[in-house]
Amino acid sequence: MASQRLDRIITPSIAVAGSEQRFEVGRIFCVGRNYAAHVAEMGGSMREPPFFFTKFAVAAVPNGTRVRYPAGTANFHFEGELVVAIDKEGSHVQAEQAHELIFGYAAGLDMTRRDLQLAARDQGRPWDTGKNFEQSAPVGDLHRRADIGSLERGVLELWVNGVVKQRADLAQMIWSTAEIIEHLSRLYRLTPGDLIYTGTPAGVGPVVAGDRIDVLIEGLSPLSVTIE
Ligand code: MN
Repeated sequence: MASQRLDRIITPSIAVAGSEQRFEVGRIFCVGRNYAAHVAEMGGSMREPPFFFTKFAVAAVPNGTRVRYPAGTANFHFEGELVVAIDKEGSHVQAEQAHELIFGYAAGLDMTRRDLQLAARDQGRPWDTGKNFEQSAPVGDLHRRADIGSLERGVLELWVNGVVKQRADLAQMIWSTAEIIEHLSRLYRLTPGDLIYTGTPAGVGPVVAGDRIDVLIEGLSPLSVTIE
């Protein structure tokens, strides 16, 4: 019965570094193509307006998760990303005020069934099956903006089994976090509990069962997951 299923819905939450507080996840938004070198490797052109896709809130899983290799793919990709957590409401927010909506930041992974995503893209179909599935949004502990300030630069690295695969600086994002919030808030009323995955730099690639992924962002707790 539907009511029994509803009883089993839980609100995923993320640990907040240095605190007993937890951040309850309501919605997950993701930005596509936000680093020039990644746009190029995916065959796109520069400086298109940011575009968005979404994931289920329950796709968010914490640091240390053993991520099951998902069904329906033979090309399961990592995308290391900065995640922004929103804790204030806002619509039509100007970039200059956007930081006021940000609770904090975390290292994240936009895990992707690349074969399904590219087939959907090429056929003009939605990306959902390629992007939105169980455990597809690992996210590390959140660091409060009140503690660390606004995060606009710093090295992002992704390692697989101790080998670096992605390395970039957050300052290389085509659209800054403030500009992303400005654009996104023209389409949605941003709300406490929203997470925004801000896009991945170049170097995306596949993982297989047994691989360990580490996402390191300067100033934030590392995010580590293992594929099983
Ligand atoms: Mn991504």
